[in-house]
Amino acid sequence: MRIVLMGAPGSGKATQAKQLERTLGIPRIATGSLLRAAAAAGTAPGQQARQALDAGHLVPDDVVLELIRERLREPDAAGGFVLEGFPRSVAQAQAFDTLLAELRTPLDRVIQIDMPEDELRPRLLGRRVCSDCGAVFHAESRPPRESGTCDVCGGELVRRRDDSQDAVERRLATYAEHAPGLLDYYAQRGLLYHVNGTRDSELVYDEIRALLS
Ligand code: ADP
Ligand code: ZN
Repeated sequence: MRIVLMGAPGSGKATQAKQLERTLGIPRIATGSLLRAAAAAGTAPGQQARQALDAGHLVPDDVVLELIRERLREPDAAGGFVLEGFPRSVAQAQAFDTLLAELRTPLDRVIQIDMPEDELRPRLLGRRVCSDCGAVFHAESRPPRESGTCDVCGGELVRRRDDSQDAVERRLATYAEHAPGLLDYYAQRGLLYHVNGTRDSELVYDEIRALLS
């Protein structure tokens, strides 16, 4: 199964992608996470990405594409993958199609998690992530047992740098700019499926599983 998971910032892509990774046994490939890891490690692509990441702008296409190209060549991706956060524009989707053709691995499904914009802001602004294991919490909807501490590993909970008010607005605007064209691109190819992201994550997951069978 080669799946692309799409949706606005805060729509729950990461939660669903992690669950698919666990149950289908295919790797989750998340460009946001790959870029943040590269930035933290100080690699060349990471340095190119850092400013855009912090401000909530898109990272330049060539940086992201190189990252994806390398990642898809790793052996664990040969049996399928869940891509999360890529492609984010029609230009990226076209470049991705070229790459998939080179690898002779067509996409199976593109799943869009639908979510109204006014529900995204509170999700993003209240989000806290574990600085050690990456587990995600939320001040109101999923508070940790002990404030500021990860339930899973005891690590410190922090706010992602791009969950600031300014960066959130920019990410939402960037998404609104690119999403219609991108959705159109995959709809025209008969690959696009929608799920309703406003419900509990377990229910969203059930809906996704139904689309994959
Ligand atoms: P979200 O989808 O909630 O914004 P992500 O972790 O997926 O969170 O992405 C965080 C940031 O990583 C984006 O704001 C952008 O700067 C960068 N990024 C992720 N994927 C891409 C991509 N495909 N193209 C360009 N930049 C990207
Ligand atoms: Zn943790």
